[in-house]
Amino acid sequence: MEIDIIRAVDPQVADYIEKELKRQQTTIELIASENFASKAVLAACGTVLNNKYAEGKPHKRFYNGCENVDFIEELAQERVKKLFNVGHANVQPHSGAQANMAVFLYALKPGDTILGMDLPSGGHLTHGTSVNFSGMYFNALTYGVNEHGCINYDEVEKIAQQHKPKMIICGASSYSKIIDFKRFREIADSVGAYLMADIAHIAGLVAAGVHPSPSGYAHFITTTTHKTLRGPRGGIIMCDEEHAAGIDKAVFPGIQGGPLEHIIAGKAVALLEASKPEFKTYAEQIVKNAKALAMGLMDEAMDIVGGCTENHLMTLDLRKYNKTGKEMANVLEKIGITANKNTVPDDPQSPFVTSGVRLGTPAVTTRGFKEEDMIEVAKIIASAVFSSDNEIGLNNLKERSLKLCLKYPLY
Ligand SMILES: *Cc1c(COP(=O)(O)O)cnc(C)c1O
Repeated sequence: MEIDIIRAVDPQVADYIEKELKRQQTTIELIASENFASKAVLAACGTVLNNKYAEGKPHKRFYNGCENVDFIEELAQERVKKLFNVGHANVQPHSGAQANMAVFLYALKPGDTILGMDLPSGGHLTHGTSVNFSGMYFNALTYGVNEHGCINYDEVEKIAQQHKPKMIICGASSYSKIIDFKRFREIADSVGAYLMADIAHIAGLVAAGVHPSPSGYAHFITTTTHKTLRGPRGGIIMCDEEHAAGIDKAVFPGIQGGPLEHIIAGKAVALLEASKPEFKTYAEQIVKNAKALAMGLMDEAMDIVGGCTENHLMTLDLRKYNKTGKEMANVLEKIGITANKNTVPDDPQSPFVTSGVRLGTPAVTTRGFKEEDMIEVAKIIASAVFSSDNEIGLNNLKERSLKLCLKYPLY
């Protein structure tokens, strides 16, 4: 086994990897951006492809000896094009943030105006926040959500009309409703803006047809490959042929050096997996499980932002119980449930404290959790909110979490 090979050289690192495997096996993973890649994906990432320099594009490299990685990268590109119905795919971005950066480098000039969802409403750092390059190099404006947790499309339109951004960005990290890509494109067209759809979170749902696709609406589609798509950590950019050469140039030499061909091989394997009927069943179950968790929580007198979920995630709103997101995420960790604190709309707390906890079902669905398991998870979470300072109660809840994990062995 790989772990023995590592142990023979570096027992310290091997120990921590083994402990991490145990942690993943024995805790309920509800971080909405995480998943468990298949053994085939993990294996592809740990291969001799790691050793190869391949700057450039397949068959147009700056190094020799690329005949094998060329075919692997082409396979990955073709699979993206087919799965997402797009004209061009660049599979080299090292991450979702790099994918977004490359699109900005290609489509924008420093000082241009961009319009993206604000961070507290569920947007991503790379969509124009002040601590990120996207907020430093561009004039970043934001839109938010209404009291139902839905994008305020009229507000998007109004800001767009008023400020004429060069690019509108849709897609989010913590948004539980279906995104209306058609409406976004209409708004973009009305002011001559590019539309970028960042489907990092929902890519697996889009691939499976469980969420509408931005294909045909967005000029640029970016994604990560490790969230609902269940591949290795990385990014992808999709666009029409007319932008292909410019996007490729923006990735390399624009912002990156050599592509990670071992990770690209992992992406290719994950994309093949995502094209199978089993993956469609998986994606459908992610959504069913999210709905079951939301219903279960509301049955236990918990508040969910927007009152329901239409995708793979939701935000538990703790204001009613005077708890903070930070406090509850730590309590959940004590009982074997991993989740992250998250702001709620009009959050009275700071982003470091927050009043919410984001809960997602992609990872537990990979393990095999079904609706009845999500109801049990909802009961465990609600009990934790009510008995967060009762040690005996928490120990009991931890046992219940572990029991669920043992029901669905991992790796
Ligand atoms: C996760 C995420 C990213 C960034 O992905 P990284 O691989 O962590 O860089 C970008 N956009 C959105 C909407 C995300 O949710």
